[in-house]
Amino acid sequence: MIRVENLHKHFGGFRACDGASIEIAQGSITGLIGPNGAGKTTLFNVIAGVLPPTDGKVFMGDEDITGLPPHELFHKGLLRTFQIAHEFSSMTVRENLMMVPGGQSGETLWNTWFHRARIAQEETALMKKADEVLEFLTIDHLADEKAGNLSGGQKKLLELGRTMMVDAKIVFLDEVGAGVNRTLLRTIGDAIIRLNKERGYTFCVIEHDMDFIARLCDPVVCMAEGKVLAVGGAKEVMQNDLVIEAYLGT
Ligand code: ADP
Repeated sequence: MIRVENLHKHFGGFRACDGASIEIAQGSITGLIGPNGAGKTTLFNVIAGVLPPTDGKVFMGDEDITGLPPHELFHKGLLRTFQIAHEFSSMTVRENLMMVPGGQSGETLWNTWFHRARIAQEETALMKKADEVLEFLTIDHLADEKAGNLSGGQKKLLELGRTMMVDAKIVFLDEVGAGVNRTLLRTIGDAIIRLNKERGYTFCVIEHDMDFIARLCDPVVCMAEGKVLAVGGAKEVMQNDLVIEAYLGT
């Protein structure tokens, strides 16, 4: 589904990605691991159109998507989750979800004035969808809570929920487990597995928690120093000598 070929991203003379090539198969939950500074986030940002590559190509199916801006990738169903922006923290969880889909009629003054009925209809549909998403993620009890009051793990679930408001095909998740307690991490893992199995989402996940990676991901890709060191099943990659050496070296 996604093929990254010989990707380079240099910051000045520093090679954050140094010829990385990876493939993400449709329907997979691909794990991306590696020590801090390996270039994982940089790779994500290049794939998701946040950073232009210095060299190399990114394909989605047969289409060259190298350097396309995030909003174009969004329309192709490629999403990278981001932390809930500060300005959205005073809005409720439900409102945060309802903000996601673009192109609603309420966006222009003219429409607001002349098409109130249509706007009301769209809002009702959006609200219904938001509530379905919250139920799916088992956080429907938080619908009216301000997003800023959520715990780290609940915010991650909300970020995941935002991808469900549009027709995502592939979702890039960065550090799902950072600052998240084990119970909630399990809930997040369950949601990812269900989205994968029941809704056909493909995922690429950066995570440091190896139990989480082993439970969800196949294959696992390990990066170090901007390159891909190993690809394979979780156990195989975690026992790979080069991978162990890369982790010990940091
Ligand atoms: P990882 O996600 O594997 O921890 P990153 O992709 O965040 O690694 O970073 C890889 C390296 O690139 C790090 O050494 C980091 O300091 C450097 N780096 C990342 N972004 C920038 C930037 N915008 N400018 C300069 N150096 C950067």
